[in-house]
Amino acid sequence: MLKRITNLFDKKNTKLSPSVVDAGLYSLKPNMVSKDARRVVETLQRAGYEAYVVGGSVRDLLLNIIPKDFDVATSAEPSEIKALFRRSRIIGRRFQIVHVQFSRELIEVTTFRSNEESDLGSNDKGSGLRQQSQSGMLTRDNVFGNVSEDASRRDLTVNALYYDPSDNTIHDFTDGLSDIDNRTIRMIGIPSTRYREDPVRLLRVARFAAKLGFSIESKTAKPMRNLCSDLRHVSPPRFFDETLKLFMSGYGAATYALLREYQLFDYIAPQASRLAKDGSSNANQLFEQAFINTDLRISSNKRVTPAFIYAALLWPAVEKLASHYRSQGHSPNYAQGKAASEVIAKQITITAIPKRFTIPMREIWDLQLQLPRRGGQRAKRLSEHPRFRAGYDFVLLREQAGEDLDGLGDWWTKYQEVSPEEQLKMSEAMGNSGKKRRRHRGPKKKKQTDN
Ligand code: ATP
Ligand code: MG
Repeated sequence: MLKRITNLFDKKNTKLSPSVVDAGLYSLKPNMVSKDARRVVETLQRAGYEAYVVGGSVRDLLLNIIPKDFDVATSAEPSEIKALFRRSRIIGRRFQIVHVQFSRELIEVTTFRSNEESDLGSNDKGSGLRQQSQSGMLTRDNVFGNVSEDASRRDLTVNALYYDPSDNTIHDFTDGLSDIDNRTIRMIGIPSTRYREDPVRLLRVARFAAKLGFSIESKTAKPMRNLCSDLRHVSPPRFFDETLKLFMSGYGAATYALLREYQLFDYIAPQASRLAKDGSSNANQLFEQAFINTDLRISSNKRVTPAFIYAALLWPAVEKLASHYRSQGHSPNYAQGKAASEVIAKQITITAIPKRFTIPMREIWDLQLQLPRRGGQRAKRLSEHPRFRAGYDFVLLREQAGEDLDGLGDWWTKYQEVSPEEQLKMSEAMGNSGKKRRRHRGPKKKKQTDN
C-alpha cells in the first residue's frame, strides 16, 4: 500500500529525510479537511510560509475516524501568524500557539519547533526559550525549527504526519504511515528520554493505543513501568485535564485496562489503585463498570461529567475511611462527610479537580446515604433533589458492579415510572424510617442504627 513518490533530502537536517506520499493512495481528499483549516493553510502558503494540517486530524482521517478538530503547523512564527488572521490570538507560555477563530471552529496554529539539544547555540541556552528541570522535563519549549525537526519533537510517529491539502500529499518523516498500516504506537526518538522530557507522554501512549486499538511497540513499552513515577512531576491542573482525555473520550474501559497494565493508574489515583488491586473489595469492578457505562453514554451522545467518574473512582476509598470513622462511634453522615473531605484533599494534590466537580461528587456520595431512606415524604423530596439522577445512576452502577443494595435500584426505577398515587403507596410501604433525623457530631458509645 505504501508507495513513495519522491524521497526528498532535507539539506539542513541529515537525520531525517521526508517521504512525500500521494495522499490519494490513502483515500485522503482535501475536502475531508475542514474549510477553515484549508483556509488557514492556504493563507499561510500564499504569504510564503510552509503550512500543513498535522497531528491527530491526519491520523484520524487515515483511519476513517472523524477528527475532533484540525491543527496546522507552519514555518511562520507566532507574531507572523497573528498578523495574517484578524480573529487570532497568541496563547501559552510554555508552548506558544496561535488560536485562529472562525465562526464554526477554532484552528490551532503552531510554529515548527525543534527538539534538538544541538540546535541550542550557546546564546539560546540562557535565552529562556527552552528550559529543562533536573529530571529532564521540558518546562519551556519555544525553540523554532524546520518541518523535519518539528516532526521529531512530536510524540508518536502516527501523530507526526503532515498533510498538504494544496497538492494532496502527506509528508512523513518518521515512518508514521507504516505504523498506521501496522497498527503500531511508536514513540519518536529514544522513548525513555522522551518520557523524561514530558511524562504526560506515558499517558498519551496508553490513550492512543486504547483509542485506536493499536499495539504498543516493544521499545516504546519497555521503559513505561520504570518511568511512571515521573508522573509525580506533572502539575495538578495539567494532570487533571489529561485524565479527562483518558476517561472521557469514549474509550475509557480500554484505556483503564492499559493504565493498570502499565502501572500508570497507581500515579493517577493512588487511593483508587490500592483498592482495585486488593481483591477483597469490588473496587476494580466498580471502576471497570463506570468506564463501560461512560463509554456507552458517549457513543449514544449522552452527557457525561467528570464528577460522576471521579465519584466512582474515589467511592471505595471514601467508604473504607467512612467505615473506619463509624467504628470510632461517629454517625454515618458525619463519618462519610469527613472521609469525603480527606479523600478529595489527597486526590487534588495529584489531579486538581475543580470545585465545580468536587461539589457534585460529594452530593452523589451523600445521596448514597439518603436514597435508602425513602419512607414517608422523603422519597418525593429526594426525587426532586437536583442531583437525584446522578445519585440514582450511581446506585445502579454499584449494583451492576456486584454490590447487594437490597433492590434499591429497582425500587427507584419503579418509583420513577409509576403514577403519583402509586409513588405515595410505595413510600408509605417503606414506613417512616428516616423521618426524624438525629443530629449527631461527636463520637458516641452505642452503635447507631441510622437506616
Ligand atoms: P486528539 O485526537 O486527542 O486531539 P491529537 O493527536 O490531536 O489527538 P493533541 O493533544 O491535540 O493530540 O496534540 C496535537 C499534536 O501535538 C499531537 O498529534 C502530537 O503531534 C503533538 N503533541 C501533543 N502533545 C504532545 C506531547 N506531550 N509531546 C510531544 N508531542 C505532542
Ligand atoms: Mg488534537
